[in-house]
Amino acid sequence: MESNVRVRFAPSPTGPLHIGGVRTALYNYLFAKKHNGTFVLRIEDTDQTRYVANAEQYIIDALEWCNIPFDEGINKNEKFGPYRQSERKEIYKKYADILINTGWAYYAFDTSEQLDAHRKQHEAEGKTFIYNWHNRAKGRLVNSLVLSEDEVQKRINAGENYVIRFKTPQNEILQMEDEIRGTIAIDTNTLDDKILFKGDGMPTYHLANIVDDHLMEISHVIRGEEWLPSMPLHVLLYRAFDWKAPKFAHLPLILKPVGKGKLSKRDGDKLGFPVFPLKYTNEQTGDVSRGYKEDGYFAEAFINMLAFLGWNPGTEQELFSIENLIQEFDLKRVSKSGAKFNPDKTKWFQQQYMQTKSYEEITELFLPILEEKNIVISSAVDKSRVQKIVSSIKERAIFVEDLWDLSSFFFESPSEYDAKNVKKNWKEGTPDLMKELLEIIQNIEDFSSENTENEIKGWITSKEIGFGKIMQPLRLSLVGKLAGPHLFDIIAMIGKEETIKRIQTAIEKLS
Ligand code: GLU
Repeated sequence: MESNVRVRFAPSPTGPLHIGGVRTALYNYLFAKKHNGTFVLRIEDTDQTRYVANAEQYIIDALEWCNIPFDEGINKNEKFGPYRQSERKEIYKKYADILINTGWAYYAFDTSEQLDAHRKQHEAEGKTFIYNWHNRAKGRLVNSLVLSEDEVQKRINAGENYVIRFKTPQNEILQMEDEIRGTIAIDTNTLDDKILFKGDGMPTYHLANIVDDHLMEISHVIRGEEWLPSMPLHVLLYRAFDWKAPKFAHLPLILKPVGKGKLSKRDGDKLGFPVFPLKYTNEQTGDVSRGYKEDGYFAEAFINMLAFLGWNPGTEQELFSIENLIQEFDLKRVSKSGAKFNPDKTKWFQQQYMQTKSYEEITELFLPILEEKNIVISSAVDKSRVQKIVSSIKERAIFVEDLWDLSSFFFESPSEYDAKNVKKNWKEGTPDLMKELLEIIQNIEDFSSENTENEIKGWITSKEIGFGKIMQPLRLSLVGKLAGPHLFDIIAMIGKEETIKRIQTAIEKLS
């Protein structure tokens, strides 16, 4: 049965979703599912100056790829909709008016020139200007707290620009509870009177966010640490509206792999890893950013890695399916301190998932790559051959893409030979030895891996020469380099005719 737990992911569509945002979405999702609750997606697009048209679709696509679907949101169970704040404009004005009427908010008419002048004057005195109780009391500010009701009405009627500000209560130590950080206390005298509603008829983030969390019956607000400074205002807004506040949990920052500070796109560019789930094209600049999906990561590996950026299960276990994560996830095990991002660990997770997938699954993923290389796989026999190949090389692959490099010699003869190893291993007497070997191979009837190994090794032994003298040139002939699985497995797989052809080609090209 559905519980009263309702959480939301509330991104602003200002660009592609950073992995920090994906982690916020993931923790919300895990928390919701663990408690049989509802995971809501709300798009906070009230700041028109930062709006990016393709960002909303990017967010939806990213959640889908990550396999953390929302239960409620745009075009899905629109019970509390609309879920785009720009479509809820009318709602917010009403709530701003309520705060005006109850004395929790006021109109402010200060022009940007006036505010700039205050800032400059404060700076000159070595102080910072804050729009708060202190400056209000000094009578420096132009707002409905000092102007007469008539005057205020006149200015509004005349179409003068105004904003609505929150009237922060004075002289109070505000005590707040955070599910991760415990009790936080703040002196309200240090807060400024934040703008709740702007002259353009749009609410600011603070007002819209609180009103929507209330109307959408959000029980827990789980979001990034960067929103912690907004928590006092949000708690006070709940008080002002006389609404029950949700519980808050502020997640730790995701930090740079090296150096100090928040992980940024620049770190990824510098160190060569994506910071976005999906590839993103900036429509204005044409800039393309890499994505985990396109870089070949499995969504499960990406999600498993993200889950550990700030949370741990308290055991040694590191591999968790999404179902396991739902079972184990607990806000109590989310840390307060920042989580260092480690690109190598991300690769490690990918490698682990590569190994846990079955040969059949990996083969299906490999087939399109083979097709691209013009390798035609038409029959079930061919497919089972690919499966065999996959099983012999999978261990060394991190990405599906790696499979081609690790196995191309199964499908086509080498187009080049590793020069360094040719020099070292292809000696003067090698062509004659290879010609002798060709005769031995011609006469082998049973071309299984075991039998060719017996026959060829038997012959080498009878000649009383080192194994390397034959085995290295043979590998170079078949693979082009000294790499790959057990050589006789390769021979069995490519068959007699192809083995002979490749040895002949090598004799021609390398001698
Ligand atoms: N729109 C805010 C963001 O972009 C939401 C913050 C919150 O969850 O309250 O992250």
